Amino acid sequence: PRKIKEESMNQTCEQVKEYLKKIRKYEQAAALISWDLQTAAPKKSIDSKLEALGFFSTEAFRLSTAEEYGSMLRELSRPEVFAGLDEAMQVTVRRNYRDYQRFQRVPQNFYTDYITTSGRSEKVWEEAKRAGDFSLFAPSLDKMIAMTKEYVGYMEPDKDPYEVLLDMYEEGMDSAAIDAVFTELKNGLLPLLSAIRAAGRPDLASLKGTYDIEAQKKVQDLLLSYIGFDFDAGAAAESEHPFTTGLCHGDIRVTNHYNETLPLSSMFSAIHEGGHAIFEQNIDSAYINTAAEQVNLMGLHESQSRFYENILGRTPAFWTPLYGKLGELLPPFKAIPFDTFCRAINDVHPSFIRTEADEVTYCLHIILRYEMEKAIFQENVPTDRLPALWNDKMEELLGIRPENDAEGILQDMHWSEGSFGYFPSYLLGSVYDGMFLNQIEKELGNLDCILEEGRIQEITAWLKEKIHRYGSMYNSREVIRRVCGGEVSAKPLLDYFRSKYSRIYGF
Ligand code: ZN
Repeated sequence: PRKIKEESMNQTCEQVKEYLKKIRKYEQAAALISWDLQTAAPKKSIDSKLEALGFFSTEAFRLSTAEEYGSMLRELSRPEVFAGLDEAMQVTVRRNYRDYQRFQRVPQNFYTDYITTSGRSEKVWEEAKRAGDFSLFAPSLDKMIAMTKEYVGYMEPDKDPYEVLLDMYEEGMDSAAIDAVFTELKNGLLPLLSAIRAAGRPDLASLKGTYDIEAQKKVQDLLLSYIGFDFDAGAAAESEHPFTTGLCHGDIRVTNHYNETLPLSSMFSAIHEGGHAIFEQNIDSAYINTAAEQVNLMGLHESQSRFYENILGRTPAFWTPLYGKLGELLPPFKAIPFDTFCRAINDVHPSFIRTEADEVTYCLHIILRYEMEKAIFQENVPTDRLPALWNDKMEELLGIRPENDAEGILQDMHWSEGSFGYFPSYLLGSVYDGMFLNQIEKELGNLDCILEEGRIQEITAWLKEKIHRYGSMYNSREVIRRVCGGEVSAKPLLDYFRSKYSRIYGF
């Protein structure tokens, strides 16, 4: 009887794998159409493309919520069966069955209503942002807050809604852990920022000019190859906003956006998206068609893009082997002294817009949003008081006050579509980076030496070996424990900021 049991378990296991493969095919088609829509699709094809995208996404969703799938996962979840699964299958069953059960608890008509409302709310947000007038958006935001609470309330009826949201974007993280890390950061960053501001901003006039866009594209290719992006397992294109998308194992794509007067913007976007892509390109093929292949841990994902962009890309030594080539591809750089370039990529100053912020003030932009989300979800602050609260926090954290809502509370799209709890993951990514940097220096030696000698591939190999190859097998807390041997802490990031900026700004 034991043997029969094992055979039927293996059979169910194979069925689940086949079933996942089928879901992936629909998802791949949807991702390809979505990529095309954002990079190449001619205007007249948009309606037809959107219809096809809707079809493939709906099919993928239908399959992952079908009763047939649920009963297979239920069977594999039984403790005596579960114990016999390999580790990747255990992760797959645990995560996918949890998601399946969550969706089963959401009433169908509520879900449809939620998706429609969120689509409409996004449009209203766009108009309100254009007009710089929060009052236009307030009723939509109010509704999205209420509906998001209701939505996660169905999924996890016994838990605090904001905790559920945090866990959805960064599994294993909760507000107690985030509070501790962000408070430490805030206390360390405020004095650091005052010291930097007291030192004054560098003179960057020599960077002003026009930079050929075709040449900027060549610089992007150079940077992507240099950091380890595999062009045989991916591609690059242009879009309105830079992003990375994984179509399947062996095809991870990045986009960029170019501006004639802002060459640094496309260079650092290339490195950032390249970091996301390298992570997914490096996932071990053993995890194809398991949950580990899909990295829905936003903090961990962001830690990899930000490691390349900030920890590596904004370190002067990163550019030592590259600066000559940069001047060959983009001649205006020949006239810019290396020191000025290094000051430009580390120009720290308070500004209103998160996506344009430097690596130091960026942290404070996220802390502001996290505190706002807690005010919304845990203190139930009324919607009409939110813009003033935003502006007060901006003043407290960055010492500046927005003139209008477009450069204040209306700047990000996240809340309009119900993505509450997403923002903290950006900063958690940087916090993890401080810890990874610490560990890399312990194991491989001084970062500046490695970069100056052009041995960056040793760092990519380290990240692959310790982090990338496992995809999302382990959540971020587990990754930190496995790789750095401790709990998540802001101290290494703060130490890195202090030592780097006191050197650059001379205090
Ligand atoms: Zn990113």
